[in-house]
Amino acid sequence: MGYTLNNIKKSPFKGLKSSWISSDFGNRRFWNNVTGKYVEDFHSGIDMTSGTEITATARGKVTACRNTVKGYTESQASGNYVTLYHGNNVYTTYCHMKYGSVKVKVGDIVEAGSVIGTKGTTGFSTGEHLHYGVKVNGSWVDPKPYLLGTKDLPQYGGTTPTPAPTGNLKYKAGDEVIFTGTLYRDSYGNGAGQSRSNLRAKIYLVNKNGSHPYNINNGLGWVKESDLTPINTTPGNYYTVVRGDTLWAIAQKFYGNGSRYPEIAKANNISNPDLIHAGQKLLIP
Ligand SMILES: [Zn+2]
Repeated sequence: MGYTLNNIKKSPFKGLKSSWISSDFGNRRFWNNVTGKYVEDFHSGIDMTSGTEITATARGKVTACRNTVKGYTESQASGNYVTLYHGNNVYTTYCHMKYGSVKVKVGDIVEAGSVIGTKGTTGFSTGEHLHYGVKVNGSWVDPKPYLLGTKDLPQYGGTTPTPAPTGNLKYKAGDEVIFTGTLYRDSYGNGAGQSRSNLRAKIYLVNKNGSHPYNINNGLGWVKESDLTPINTTPGNYYTVVRGDTLWAIAQKFYGNGSRYPEIAKANNISNPDLIHAGQKLLIP
């Protein structure tokens, strides 16, 4: 079932041009010599047994990693691993690394070819190998075209990134805003996604080098500053209600006394708080 893959151009191992492939991408059946049972599953990457030092196959940002698994376990199947984001919704992942060998942490930016760990057999693994996976638009794809150089991974940040906005950014992580516009998948504006209108959002990440410097609502997407307006919740100011607002939270301490939003209702002469509608301006009491 194994075979040798030659002519590797973008290797996840330092200096390696050919490798024994112990398990290919796709549906498979194999003998687990630890549990003594056959396993049938979808194999989301390719298992490479040659090589020692594991390297990033393209410039990427570390979005997840683990370095604490000591041996065989099915509950932490990837073992010690690193996942890199390359832009355009493309990720690579490197699994089953040796305990304690992972050299990077979440948020690091690693260059193509730099060493990120050492081959091992941690997690759901019965012998030393690297499980190398490539995920595009949310699905695992066959890594071989990327290994052989017939498909290219994006380089994080791009080879010629969109110029960064000039001047200081208006918002910081944690700020609440209203967003109307298009969501982008990465901070350089690559990969236009869905649109939203009057979405109440919280700034999650800020990348001052991006043309779309704000990531909102825990990774929903990256947005431009000009598509945001601030939410003003200072007492004594008006606030424009948008669909999805939880007004209960504003007046939480008064909840349960017979009227749901007594402070807001009183300040705005509203007799039935259930009829507060999107677009209405409310005085914050
Ligand atoms: Zn594997």
